[in-house]
Amino acid sequence: MLAEPNHHDGRYVLPIRWLILIATAATLICGWKNAQGEETPEAAANERLARTVLYLSSDELEGRGLGSKGLDLAADYIAGQFREIGLKTDLYDGAPFQKFTAPAASPHGTKLPIAPGNNDVNGKPSNADRSKADANNMPPPATEPNRIAAKNVVAVLEGEGPHADEAIVIGAHYDHLGRGEPGSLEPDSHEIHHGADDNASGVAAMLEIARQLAAREKKLPRQVVFIAFTGEERGLYGSAHYVKDPLAPLDKTIAMLNLDMVGRMTDDKLIVYGTGTASEWGDLLTRLNEKHDFQLTRHPEGYGPSDHSSFYAKRIPVLFFFTGTHKDYHRPSDTFDKINVDGMRRVAELVADAAVAIAETDARPTYKDIGGPSQFAKSGDRPYFGSIPDFSQDQPGYALMGVSKGGPAEAAGIQGGDIILRLGDYPIANLEDFDTALRKFKAGDRITVLVKRGSDEMKFAVTLEPPRQ
Ligand SMILES: [Zn+2]
Repeated sequence: MLAEPNHHDGRYVLPIRWLILIATAATLICGWKNAQGEETPEAAANERLARTVLYLSSDELEGRGLGSKGLDLAADYIAGQFREIGLKTDLYDGAPFQKFTAPAASPHGTKLPIAPGNNDVNGKPSNADRSKADANNMPPPATEPNRIAAKNVVAVLEGEGPHADEAIVIGAHYDHLGRGEPGSLEPDSHEIHHGADDNASGVAAMLEIARQLAAREKKLPRQVVFIAFTGEERGLYGSAHYVKDPLAPLDKTIAMLNLDMVGRMTDDKLIVYGTGTASEWGDLLTRLNEKHDFQLTRHPEGYGPSDHSSFYAKRIPVLFFFTGTHKDYHRPSDTFDKINVDGMRRVAELVADAAVAIAETDARPTYKDIGGPSQFAKSGDRPYFGSIPDFSQDQPGYALMGVSKGGPAEAAGIQGGDIILRLGDYPIANLEDFDTALRKFKAGDRITVLVKRGSDEMKFAVTLEPPRQ
């Protein structure tokens, strides 16, 4: 409730900032009229997308940190949109809120621990960490301290026909880092982390997909469950909870489509993860992209640093759509003015078409186990290395977007842009290799890491630390 002392003039500054933002939005929006100056369906969609991102990333919502009033406001907004679109929202005692409790940031009241465990995926846990998150999501004793109230926002577009009991989940997390929770790349900052791209963009796109699918004349042959997940930044809490208590049974959930950071499209580039998790996905994407014409980067793996992981772990085929990382990632500067609204709309249209294609195909997608972290998740805790992956890279090696402040990698001199080629004696071709190799070591081990930096290859000695709990 207390205003920060250095914000005494906030009441004057705030409206002006809003006016500027709204003016920016208006400029963007007016740019999409057709040659006759009429508003096109695309312009109308862009306006909706821009409004949603503008609101969710506004100062008023204070970065949508877990347990904050701003996050509740975001939940109310999403629920209102779901209702306006005409989806079924009376799902949990008449409301779209799937409530649960999540671990609070730190049992010690300090800032540091990146809940719920060690990670090298930037505040987003490995599969092993997620199992812990799952365990943590057991209904707590009423007096359990260190838990906070959390809620997913869920809505359903019902289907009709013999497959109407089957469901496609389309999800996007709506939480972010507040004023710089664990996971921030400016850990000393108490500025609002706006999270316009991460992940106001994904939520806006999901709402647009819902609107498009709900507006179809004929019902789809399968139902679509839309979920705005909470607690993603802290450890996929919302999706971990949902798969434990799903609305449609998991064996009737035939696919999960995830949107996380779809607001920074450049040069038509779209990154899709999970392309190997169903036999049909490769052909489906190729076919869809004939119309949508993206520069697609395909990654087969079903595990990754966002909510689709929770579904893939339950043997559900997944696709994860993403426009890539950038220098504002997990920083206060991830703001609305940098969003490519037209790119978001194009992603939403592709995902809507994907959902229709999946819903209308008689046979459900064929799940494929392509391995990944789950196979070695139980092989013990992974020591802490402190790297942040760059998921937009698809060259051999493990590409880093950055290193965690104060972590072992940083201390050794490794930096963002480096590509890890070898860890000890283990060659590293991708993030999964890195994860597997790291688990062969223990805290305190000093290992040699071979890194490609530009055209050079360099070696660094990294002393591993205990898993972050
Ligand atoms: Zn994030």
